[in-house]
Amino acid sequence: MQGNNIIAAISTPAGVGGIAIIRLSGEGCIRLAGSVFKPYGNKMLGEQKANTIHFGSIMKDDTVLDEVLISLFKAPHSFTGEDVVEISCHGSVYIQQNILQLLISKGARLAQPGEFTQRAFLNGKMDLSQAESVADLIASSSAAAHRLAMNQMRGGFSNKLIELRTELLNFASLIELELDFSEEDVEFANRERLKEAAYDIELHISKLAESFEVGNAVKNGIPVAIIGETNAGKSTLLNLLLHEEKAIVSDIHGTTRDVIEDTINIQGLAFRLIDTAGIRDTTDEIESLGIERTFKKIEQANIILWITDVGTTDEHIRDLAEKILPAVKNQKLILVFNKVDMISAERKENKERLLREEIPDRIFISAKYEQGTNDLESLLVKAADIPEIGEQDVIVTNMRHYAALENALSAIRRVGEGLDLHLSGDFLSQDIRECMHYLGEITGQISTDDILGNIFSKFCIGK
Ligand code: GDP
Repeated sequence: MQGNNIIAAISTPAGVGGIAIIRLSGEGCIRLAGSVFKPYGNKMLGEQKANTIHFGSIMKDDTVLDEVLISLFKAPHSFTGEDVVEISCHGSVYIQQNILQLLISKGARLAQPGEFTQRAFLNGKMDLSQAESVADLIASSSAAAHRLAMNQMRGGFSNKLIELRTELLNFASLIELELDFSEEDVEFANRERLKEAAYDIELHISKLAESFEVGNAVKNGIPVAIIGETNAGKSTLLNLLLHEEKAIVSDIHGTTRDVIEDTINIQGLAFRLIDTAGIRDTTDEIESLGIERTFKKIEQANIILWITDVGTTDEHIRDLAEKILPAVKNQKLILVFNKVDMISAERKENKERLLREEIPDRIFISAKYEQGTNDLESLLVKAADIPEIGEQDVIVTNMRHYAALENALSAIRRVGEGLDLHLSGDFLSQDIRECMHYLGEITGQISTDDILGNIFSKFCIGK
């Protein structure tokens, strides 16, 4: 079948590069590509074997548009599960656009965002959570985020869910079998065994749901708030942290507020510095106008770096602590004494004792002379408290998955309660089915066009 079953898109980033890749997928795409390709060998493209690469020219009528390499993949052994052609051309925008237009004039259509990955899902090459991890993999900006996305793409998460669903299905079948024999009042499913199984499943699901906190932190960066008085040295420290070529992005988020977030990468973990705008224009003063802003930052953070000038009097630091400490809930607070280059060893010792009990995590640095900053970074990594993530570990990183897990968890808890209350089989079965439904939503065993549309529209075109 020709026509709009064949999708085409430029799969490399927009702009000029050394080379660019234009991807085609769908039945008939090899023939379509062959109609504009003049090989340098004597075999036509359509006669070539799968998983081979061919050198030749892309011809627009009698004109050579570019010399290219074409990679051929044949269904079902390709990313999408369909015939796929990848044209590696020279990276000029002119060439890329012209080749794409030429392919469209021959009957291909421009791919929708994420449509290649969507086809991979629809053709059973991967399940939904794996498809989503493709987007995460492309976006991963730290070693840890990359590892999580890779695990998920390889199917670690899906396998676990499939295991749980199978267990639930067995569980449901037994109970539903009883319903078929309801007249005879038999009990196929041993209630004690079921209770154990329900509890076990609940434990697994809640472990997965709990892993979201870590997964989310790794994927989006661990939120860190830098707070402290004007002139404590916050922006000096910030610049130091950012300038060691660790900065990945300095993004401007939001349209109404001038919130700037920087991300730094330390020992393979991403740290997201919350609202650094105030630091740059040094309006972030704890005591006066910045108090609300400081509290807001504390609320959003997992780690708080409280920077204080080591020359500040003990009394004043205690006053500030009285304001800051009540706002700190589950966050890790690190007290950073800056400008250590300015004080004697004796005064430093005094400061060591200040608020020791209230804030055990402290460090002396000189942001200006770059003393102690490596130790500060190690302290940040320690405070992040991200467990070593192994190859086999299943960690949830996706908000949609987390929401589905929470729903599955409520359902399985109801099953447990129902068993305790000796509820009849039809109630139990309903909740078990509901739990299965939510788990199935994650892998796409249960999906609606709405869910699919929503997920794949977040991809870029060409993926
Ligand atoms: P912010 O208002 O907290 O952002 O503070 P700044 O980073 O702008 O620093 C205020 C002043 O302190 C600047 O003149 C810095 O050069 C100076 N400063 C920052 N860190 C140090 C340090 O470790 N030692 C010394 N001696 N001065 C520093």
